[in-house]
Amino acid sequence: MGEAAAPARTIRLVRPPADDGVGVFRIDGGEGRPQFYTLRELPCEIGGRGFAVHRLGMGNVYHVRVGRPDDSTCECLGFLRWGRCKHVAGLGALIRQKQL
Ligand SMILES: [Zn+2]
Repeated sequence: MGEAAAPARTIRLVRPPADDGVGVFRIDGGEGRPQFYTLRELPCEIGGRGFAVHRLGMGNVYHVRVGRPDDSTCECLGFLRWGRCKHVAGLGALIRQKQL
């Protein structure tokens, strides 16, 4: 990835969480094809909202916690390196839009 302008990303809820608590969203933009994820909300007692996020077709499962901007976490490499990532940003956007 270049250091120039980051590609614009969009997140879309493909399937809102159903009775089983599992929903599907996709992230477009960035390199390559759209990435599909499942999400399942987890109890979160330390503030914010917690989600288990599973990237389909890959083994990766990330635990994402969305709280205040300075109090969100994700287990992905991007967050470890930069302190922000598309998972926190995307789920935060869906929460603000009251889709989650
Ligand atoms: Zn992340």
